Amino acid sequence: MKSSVFDIFKIGIGPSSSHTVGPLIIANKFAFLLEEKKLLNKINKLQITLYGSLAATGLGHSSDKAILIGLSGKNPQNIDTKSIDKEVEKIKKDKKINLLDKVFIPFNYNKDLILKMEFLPYHPNAVTIIAYNENEELLKKTYYSIGGGFVIDETQINIKKTNETQISIPYEFNSATELISLCKENNLKISQLVMENEKALRSEEEINNKLKQIWEVMQQCIEDGCKAEGLMPGRLKVPRRAHKLYEKLNAKKNFSMIDPLEVMDWIDLYALAVNEENASGGRVVTAPTNGAAGIVPSVITYMNHFINKNLSSYDMKSINEFLLTAGAIGMLYQKNASISGADVGCQGEVGVACSMAAGALAQCMGGTLDQVENAAEIGMEHNLGLTCDPIGGYVQIPCIERNAMAAMKAVNAARMAINGDGKHFVSLDSVIKTMFITGKDMMNKYKETSLGGLAVNTIEC
Ligand code: SF4
Repeated sequence: MKSSVFDIFKIGIGPSSSHTVGPLIIANKFAFLLEEKKLLNKINKLQITLYGSLAATGLGHSSDKAILIGLSGKNPQNIDTKSIDKEVEKIKKDKKINLLDKVFIPFNYNKDLILKMEFLPYHPNAVTIIAYNENEELLKKTYYSIGGGFVIDETQINIKKTNETQISIPYEFNSATELISLCKENNLKISQLVMENEKALRSEEEINNKLKQIWEVMQQCIEDGCKAEGLMPGRLKVPRRAHKLYEKLNAKKNFSMIDPLEVMDWIDLYALAVNEENASGGRVVTAPTNGAAGIVPSVITYMNHFINKNLSSYDMKSINEFLLTAGAIGMLYQKNASISGADVGCQGEVGVACSMAAGALAQCMGGTLDQVENAAEIGMEHNLGLTCDPIGGYVQIPCIERNAMAAMKAVNAARMAINGDGKHFVSLDSVIKTMFITGKDMMNKYKETSLGGLAVNTIEC
């Protein structure tokens, strides 16, 4: 496997990596392809069709806005998240879109953006964009947003290796068994092995800078989420909870030894803060997806504050170790299963994030390689079968609370593994395979379509 940890942790915008970041990248790619083929000045009409899960929950996940913003040339890293709604309203009102900020073409939001509840064979998240000159079709492409902000087009379907580099890396692994064996043979921790692989792609200084940048965005996201008040976007009018919880916890002078489980409130707080920011279209890091973005930062912050006792600073050495280990576990799922809720349900998002955080925490707590594998396995085993049924198509209920629950589960999984001897019945590879098969067996109504589960059994006030 030649993926990079930076394919798992990507800086983007909320609320969804597959339904917001992916469509934005797709539109961006199509616009640049038009420019490359010197078609920008020739087209006078675009037709965009969102299929399957993107049609079912795309509006709640802001897929429509992402497409329009992507066509104008913005990318998830540089966009000013607060400007998006204004720009989209302008496109709708003026009935024209500024392609790559270079050429205006007519665009009727109600007619030129089509939602089609049809599932294309390769993946439930598909987008077809056609560029016309009058009625003549100049360019047509179908893309798939396959989870975590990964995008492929129709020509790459049988390759599914778009993010794999051709550069040779010292420790190539395709399964957890291979990863653990390589670590044992070379006397390396998972994070050290991944670091050596990353060094084949970029300098150590660049790797450390990128890890620091990822952590800074995660940390900022927690801070912003703790400060923000009010309702989250959308018709559900869900109130933010993190700020009130933050104030309540901060009001206590000392950490209460009367209730040692008070630490749970902090773990909840960090996850709620990130996912409320995500639901509100803020800047987040995929870990491995946006919907599951709160788990890794929550567990890292818990480790930093409560295990390493750094209350007012961050220990980048242990944070790097955490991110590199979690990234390696995420790669195993990305390669051998799926990290898309539309493909395999929430077990592929929150379940994977829980597994990543559990394994990484176990390593940072001094666990052996077998204990780390065990922790990652436990983290997924108890998320198997978890469906994706967001109410109203918004990444809010159950997503936000679910991250807090999974962060706690990850801590528990790491502790359970550390307290064992590393021997375990179910291997990480088996649980990854089981998750994938379970996800494929799941009916579409439980896979990011909001046609089943809580989405249809909850009365919206
Ligand atoms: S239920 Fe899970 S997979 Fe579905 S949108 Fe929410 S976080 Fe993502």
